[in-house]
Amino acid sequence: MRRLRDVGEHAWLKRVIARLGRVTDSRRILVGPGDDAAVVRASGRPLVLTTDTLIEDVHFRPGWSTPAALGRRAFAVNASDLAAMGGVPRFALLALEAPGGMRVADLDAVTTGFAEAARRAGARLVGGNLANGSHLAITVALIGEVPGRVVTRAGARAGDVLYVTGSLGAAGLAVRRRRLPAAPDRVRAGVVLAPVASAMIDVSDGLLQDLGHLCRASRVGAEVEIGRLPVASACRRALGSRAAEFAATAGEDYELVVAVPPGRERRLLALRRRLGCRVTRIGRLVRGPARVRVVDPAGRSLRIDRRGFDHFGR
Ligand SMILES: [Mg+2]
Repeated sequence: MRRLRDVGEHAWLKRVIARLGRVTDSRRILVGPGDDAAVVRASGRPLVLTTDTLIEDVHFRPGWSTPAALGRRAFAVNASDLAAMGGVPRFALLALEAPGGMRVADLDAVTTGFAEAARRAGARLVGGNLANGSHLAITVALIGEVPGRVVTRAGARAGDVLYVTGSLGAAGLAVRRRRLPAAPDRVRAGVVLAPVASAMIDVSDGLLQDLGHLCRASRVGAEVEIGRLPVASACRRALGSRAAEFAATAGEDYELVVAVPPGRERRLLALRRRLGCRVTRIGRLVRGPARVRVVDPAGRSLRIDRRGFDHFGR
């Protein structure tokens, strides 16, 4: 009998999406399962939908942060998936599982932290659920609008240039130090980048692994220049010569990886001041198998075995 741990998170998702068959229809479902978020059309307008769960002892441990920070992070990691589509969150649902022994003030703080983060981003908490469970689990569903263009993982071509927002590695380092990492707000950056992007994905499980998803969806290969990665200074200080490799694989960053056709690169650079964060050129997409090659400053391939996070360890 095959178990989940034999298959792995990403392989299981791929199988079930294939089994569901083609869900996209050009009238009402613009992007089906398998991207950062689904895009549907309701009353003529595109809506982006996403859901995700944070689970105690899986994504965080008790005592890593305040309950309010946990609520804020639950919102931010979901908003990140909408940002990767060029979407802006508008409505949120919050389904909580918590043990009966949990302090009421703590669950209140999770919820108000979440609601305040939503409100700052222009969204409102409009419903949810509470159920008894052995651990705290925070499940979020977000519904958002797309002010401009919908960007998927699938539109990139060989020759496109790869950029990443913000910096990498600080969040992975926080997890290693048993602290809840902060997740950046990239909603504005996603909207600003959408008109020049051919494809976009957010970095949740590790840059190399998430970029691999973009490559498979776009049917291209990628070359990442490790020396160009915007490694967070805390990560550089802590890990020295190993910092760049750690930053490329640790995940939890919630930055955006963007593919940009060379002809739109000047427009991207002109947009930089409106992003609210830095954006760094890290490599390019190439013809060939959907693999991510990492190269050192001399152009030599580096072998990096660990690529990113999978819930079932594959
Ligand atoms: Mg994502």
